Amino acid sequence: MRKFYEGKLVRKAIVLVFAVSFIGVIAVFYLYFVSLDSLAAENMKQRVMVALDVEAGIQQEILEEYTFWDEAYENCIVNVNKDWISVNTGEYMFSSHDVAFSLAVNSSGNFSYIDAVNKNDISKYERILRPKIAILLKKVSQSTLPAKLASGFISVDDEYFLVSAGLFMSRDNKDGRSPPSYLVFGKRFDDSYVKHIGLKYKLNTLAFSVDHGDSGHSFKLLDLEDRTIGYMVWNKIYPSRGILPFLAVVVCLFYIVTGGICVIVLKREAVNIKEQEEQLYFLATKDYLTGVSNRRHVMELGQQMLSAHQKKSYRLSVLVLDIDHFKSINDQFGHDIGDLALGAFSRICSNVLRSSDLFGRFGGEEFLAVLHDTEIENALEVAERMRRTVEAQTAKDLSIPLFTVSIGVSVDVPGDDFEMIVRRADEALYKAKAKGRNRVEVYVEDYEGSSA
Ligand code: GH3
Ligand code: MG
Ligand code: MG
Repeated sequence: MRKFYEGKLVRKAIVLVFAVSFIGVIAVFYLYFVSLDSLAAENMKQRVMVALDVEAGIQQEILEEYTFWDEAYENCIVNVNKDWISVNTGEYMFSSHDVAFSLAVNSSGNFSYIDAVNKNDISKYERILRPKIAILLKKVSQSTLPAKLASGFISVDDEYFLVSAGLFMSRDNKDGRSPPSYLVFGKRFDDSYVKHIGLKYKLNTLAFSVDHGDSGHSFKLLDLEDRTIGYMVWNKIYPSRGILPFLAVVVCLFYIVTGGICVIVLKREAVNIKEQEEQLYFLATKDYLTGVSNRRHVMELGQQMLSAHQKKSYRLSVLVLDIDHFKSINDQFGHDIGDLALGAFSRICSNVLRSSDLFGRFGGEEFLAVLHDTEIENALEVAERMRRTVEAQTAKDLSIPLFTVSIGVSVDVPGDDFEMIVRRADEALYKAKAKGRNRVEVYVEDYEGSSA
């Protein structure tokens, strides 16, 4: 009993360990995925920022070629050659480098020229750009680059530009021209340019939105005056979603396999425990030689049956059976044959009884039958049938010696306990032996009569 109880505890403990570890694993993976996704979002942000820096750098590189070019300085600042400007800083830059406007700022701070893809916009640009370009030029003068370049975003009404400005440099002393003058290129920062950046830097869902707002998958673009001009936006990415199905399968498989192994081991253990219990029960309740109930068990079951009968006012009869002259069977045929005879006797008697009756070995060659819901008349009939069957069967079965049985019968009376009925049946048996054996006797007060 104790072992079975312990087995249940072990099962509960294993289920608990499984449940707790499963919750733990889910929690760990959840935290891992959350941090993985936020890392990926941060990484994406960095990549977009780097892409914008690289784009500004490319623009600055083109600009640098012009600021170190003496011919450009001569034609843009010194002589202001409209034709040269129109070809070299105008059409060429517009078509080859997608520049939307270009301008030069002379030493007095005025635009020496301004040119744009859309000629109609020139006067508007000139008006709006002037103060903004002044801020950019301040950045140029603060630039630590040897080439003295700076970039930033500028808005003109609802148009946005990535603008780079550079100080005209002298090839001879690699220093800024004196007095200082500047060249400026502006590139339209619109949907198609952002899409182009997205494709170029493999940031596929990159877009520019004026009113997206701050989120985990966007960042703010500031102009030169630190005003928000819009947001770089991309679709949320969840690398965890790529791993999740695979991991779910692995975790589920792990739990199914280990759970299955545990179930098999526990079931085997439960079967072992059950077998052991059955073995113990058999040893505790059965007679090892005949397989019928032992004395203690048949007395216990008899008492239980009596109590149940007394509640329902049923009658219960008891037969005490003793093999006649058994000692001489042993003496004549040996103890082993005696044992066989005891087994055969148990089988013969059990076959005569109903399944609701009890049969047990009382000790030696003495047995006890308890007849369920049986009055004394019927009990006598059963006892007589048993006596005759034993005589007939042992005569027929050549593997065992012929023997007979004497039987004492008694029935319960109000107030009896089981032992009292057995004692009376035993007295009746004594009478059967005294009267010559191989006969059935009833306890006198139970019934006036017997059969031979
Ligand atoms: P009675 O007719 O008066 O009952 O005579 P009996 O010889 O049967 O009675 P007695 O009580 O003198 O002898 C019983 C014998 O049963 C003695 C014992 O050796 C034998 N016996 C008891 N238990 C076993 C057993 O387990 N195996 C065998 N082979 N013999 C047993
Ligand atoms: Mg005997
Ligand atoms: Mg005896």
